[in-house]
Amino acid sequence: MIKETKEVYHFQSEVKQLLHLMIHSLYSNKEIFLRELISNASDAIDKLRFESISSPSLYENDSEMKVKISINKAQRTLVISDNGIGMSKQDTIENLGTIAKSGTKSFLQSLEKTKNKKNELIGEFGVGFYSSFIVSNKVCVRTRLAGTQPEEATLWESSGEGEYNIKKIVKKKRGTEITLFLKKEEEEFLEIWRIKNIISKYSDHITVPINIQNYNEKNKTYFWEQINKAQALWTLNKSSITTEEYKNFYKHLTNDQHNPLTWSHNHVEGNQEYISLLYIPKKAHWDIWNRDKKHGLKLYVKRVYIMDNSQEFLPNYLRFIKGLIDSSDLPLNISREILQDNSITSSIKKALTKRCLNMLDKLSKDSDIKYQEFWNEFGLILKEGPAEDSENLLRIANLLRFSSMKNSTPEQTLSLEEYIANMDEKQEKIYYITADSYIAAKNSPHLELFKKNNIDVLLLSDRIDEWMMNYLIEFKGKKFQSISKEDISLNKLTSNKKIKNNELSKDMLDFLKKTKNFLGNKVKDVRFTHRLTETPCVLLSDSNEMTTQMAKLFSAAGQNIPELKYIFEINPEHLLIKKICLINNDVEFKKWMKLLLDQAFLAEKGSLENPHEFISRMNELLLH
Ligand code: ADP
Ligand code: MG
Repeated sequence: MIKETKEVYHFQSEVKQLLHLMIHSLYSNKEIFLRELISNASDAIDKLRFESISSPSLYENDSEMKVKISINKAQRTLVISDNGIGMSKQDTIENLGTIAKSGTKSFLQSLEKTKNKKNELIGEFGVGFYSSFIVSNKVCVRTRLAGTQPEEATLWESSGEGEYNIKKIVKKKRGTEITLFLKKEEEEFLEIWRIKNIISKYSDHITVPINIQNYNEKNKTYFWEQINKAQALWTLNKSSITTEEYKNFYKHLTNDQHNPLTWSHNHVEGNQEYISLLYIPKKAHWDIWNRDKKHGLKLYVKRVYIMDNSQEFLPNYLRFIKGLIDSSDLPLNISREILQDNSITSSIKKALTKRCLNMLDKLSKDSDIKYQEFWNEFGLILKEGPAEDSENLLRIANLLRFSSMKNSTPEQTLSLEEYIANMDEKQEKIYYITADSYIAAKNSPHLELFKKNNIDVLLLSDRIDEWMMNYLIEFKGKKFQSISKEDISLNKLTSNKKIKNNELSKDMLDFLKKTKNFLGNKVKDVRFTHRLTETPCVLLSDSNEMTTQMAKLFSAAGQNIPELKYIFEINPEHLLIKKICLINNDVEFKKWMKLLLDQAFLAEKGSLENPHEFISRMNELLLH
């Protein structure tokens, strides 16, 4: 007989860190280890079913798929086994010794800093296989990849402290058998009722049967008892599913500890036949902003699991939606590549997009509080919608929420419907301003005219806003208008008539001429305005020019853009202007005008090219 040698391996450092955190900080909710192991067993069975579509021999004459649990009180062991796909030796090294998820490192770092909520966060991350060490001193995994020889099986074992051993073994049945050597204080998990209880809580909707080994005291025999319903929840009739079941299924699907905000479950027949179950989560998943991660629905074809995160069924701006789609029309052997340009996929995508938008619309009508909760969590993502999906522009616009000049809170609560309903009869446009922050928008000099005339203005300060406004041209017949741009129609609306030069004093006219001469091509034009009340001057973009915020977006993305030329508007009523108007000394006059222009730039852009020069000039004038 060949003496099998034991090989020793070290866990990847992230795994060590995760194990340490779990073993030392997960005090409550330890039972989740069972949910994780059963979910892995069920995934392995799904994978085998999928693989055997093209290679039926993988079943090895054993196609009755099952997860089995048995307990040995004397040895204090709990064994969970499945006849799924199994693992090769290399698989165990890659899957049970490392964590492949992108962003793991930063996640673990942030977790170490978190005091409370560790439990919740770890759960959301998907603790997976390693959670077995929360309750065990030692874990043994016996596994054989489907399609390989019984002598090619692997034993993986570890006590969860830095290293693990691997040995070649013989295993007749394909699949994986995990033995947990429970810690003394975790003996509760050796009770059948406790295991049943955990499974009904977390794993009832697992579609493979879960059997537990039970003992008949009378006959003194062991027997297998099925403890879950083993039905695919989404295939059931809507009316036969309880709210609680929907919520539990969501948690099982996503690892999220929170209940979903709402969901929509549909059996569609006709041209296309499919079932969709879509959820709106309450909280964003921790890596929702990770561009490398695929976000999408779980795909089944005729009840057979095909893949996770298939992005093809929803647009990117709805990537926060969780759920599944089970199609009866797609071929079982579908790949991601085929999925991408498939007419069935695109017509399902169209329908699901509408369904999600309707679900959001309904949520907004049913509950302001819940919708606001949704908006605060996912509004930034939904704002990508107008650029991505022109077909549904109006529906998306209806779902947007804004802060506004008249609403005294930075929270984005105002809908466009409401804005329009509050408009004055004469008001033809929807006014907005974009800025770097809510405070900057709220205090912009451009608002002065609107305050005076009691016209509300949307205050936009999210980075994406300027981009979004490029695609929002009008809403219900009302055009959007940036108030930092020239807008002739404003004159009709306000009590401010355009200033006619023949109504101005000679001093003022001279002043205007002198300023124009002096500023030359630094600005596009110089003129007097009544837009302002408290500010001496302001910069305005020409109606066909790029706005300041847009230019910032472009330069942040590393693009070269031509220098922006503004219209310099001066408030002839302002005391400072009246004072400068009386200055005869040219040198003195230029100093003041430079100061005013810089002030206007500062208010418009939030920064200056040469702040030092601005400060010394101001100090000089202050000392005068
Ligand atoms: P996840 O399930 O999120 O991938 P886990 O830590 O739960 O993370 O599992 C890691 C990997 O180990 C799985 O992706 C799978 O490849 C493998 N694995 C775990 N349990 C089994 C099993 N029972 N059968 C086959 N492979 C398994
Ligand atoms: Mg898992």
